[in-house]
Amino acid sequence: MIRVESSADVVIVGGGVVGSAAAWRLAARGRRVVLLEQFEQGHHRGASHGSSRIYRQAYAGRFYTALAARALPLWRQLEETTGEHLLELTGAVDHGLSSTVLAKARVLGDLGIAHTVLDPAEAERRWPGIRFDSVVLYHPDAGRLHADRSVAALQQAAVQAGADVRHNTSARAIRETPRGVEVASDTDTIAAGQVVLAAGAWTPAVLDATTGASLRLPALRTTQEQPAHFVPLSDARWPSFVHHRGAELVGEGIYGLGSVDGIKIGEHGTGPQVDPDTRSFVADPDGVRRLVDYARAWLPGVDADSARVDTCLYTTTPDSNFVVDRAGALTVAAGFSGHGFKFAPVIGELVADLVEATATGPEPFRSGTRHPVVVS
Ligand SMILES: Cc1cc2nc3c(=O)[nH]c(=O)nc-3n(C[C@H](O)[C@H](O)[C@H](O)COP(=O)(O)OP(=O)(O)OC[C@H]3O[C@@H](n4cnc5c(N)ncnc54)[C@H](O)[C@@H]3O)c2cc1C
Repeated sequence: MIRVESSADVVIVGGGVVGSAAAWRLAARGRRVVLLEQFEQGHHRGASHGSSRIYRQAYAGRFYTALAARALPLWRQLEETTGEHLLELTGAVDHGLSSTVLAKARVLGDLGIAHTVLDPAEAERRWPGIRFDSVVLYHPDAGRLHADRSVAALQQAAVQAGADVRHNTSARAIRETPRGVEVASDTDTIAAGQVVLAAGAWTPAVLDATTGASLRLPALRTTQEQPAHFVPLSDARWPSFVHHRGAELVGEGIYGLGSVDGIKIGEHGTGPQVDPDTRSFVADPDGVRRLVDYARAWLPGVDADSARVDTCLYTTTPDSNFVVDRAGALTVAAGFSGHGFKFAPVIGELVADLVEATATGPEPFRSGTRHPVVVS
């Protein structure tokens, strides 16, 4: 092992979408940033890989709706900075449980965000690939992000702003010191003013390897999820969609969207609890069968026999609110509970505010405060 001492204003542990966004926003503010990522660029062991994630603004509460709306211009700024096309606005639809769908419509209305409420027949005329069972909410400022390209672009923008991004380099131990922190990595020990833990499912382990940390995480549950891609039967443009549990839909809700790999659908947070270092990457056959059955029943626009399954991690807090909080020289951004991707550049801004102590961060994201579930 080479031991070269180096220094930075901020060391960020974790190069998924959240750590990469924090690196971009902190470097853009003139901070000397080192980003440590234990695996190679584009790896598939965490939560941020693949070709697609839903970007939508419709949540049943104002807080996440406003936060998602704040992310849109930042995604566009990232596209301008890097010359990459990352976010395609295809619109999004919600259907299923009418009370949830209408609650979302109310929030969009309250915040002045464009939307339409349609009946199922009208929705089926517009999107013949989907069968609708209830009132349908459509909002146009939604669509899909290319996940792998977004993470790469965030890191590119961070590097353009002066960050030092190191792949295949683990943070092994962190020690708070009177002047800040020391982060021992595979290659050297970095003295820094502050450290940001954005280590996804590994965050509790990294916190355990931190001496002197006073921040306590809520219980984080790591699960292996398994979305599937299906071959579409036409070139029709697909909206992103969320089918909330409703009268006709048994079990959890389903999300879906078009992507370069086909029409992706998945259940939200139903996978088995796993250890991120020893998980199998093998999909649960019962879960695959449920997705195939769903496609056959609800998605006439896909070949239901063409499922290709991938696995990915959720790290979920007890109430599905994120943790973005600071204590001393340590800031944590974790627990994104299966819905964090769309917000990444705003989370980067919130992390930068915490590091610069210009704000205390939103109350729902404080590590010690938990709320009734407000997320859907
Ligand atoms: C199947 C699936 C579908 C999803 N769909 C959506 C969606 O449609 N819309 C949406 O908004 N969100 C969605 N999400 C959620 C979103 O993808 C996650 O919330 C987000 O990717 C979390 O990013 P992260 O950076 O916190 O975690 P990760 O991407 O897991 O990043 C953490 C990184 O830290 C690194 N690391 C850990 N320990 C160390 C260490 N000691 N040293 C160095 N590096 C370390 C890891 O290698 C990893 O790369 C989905 C998630 C899944 C799994």
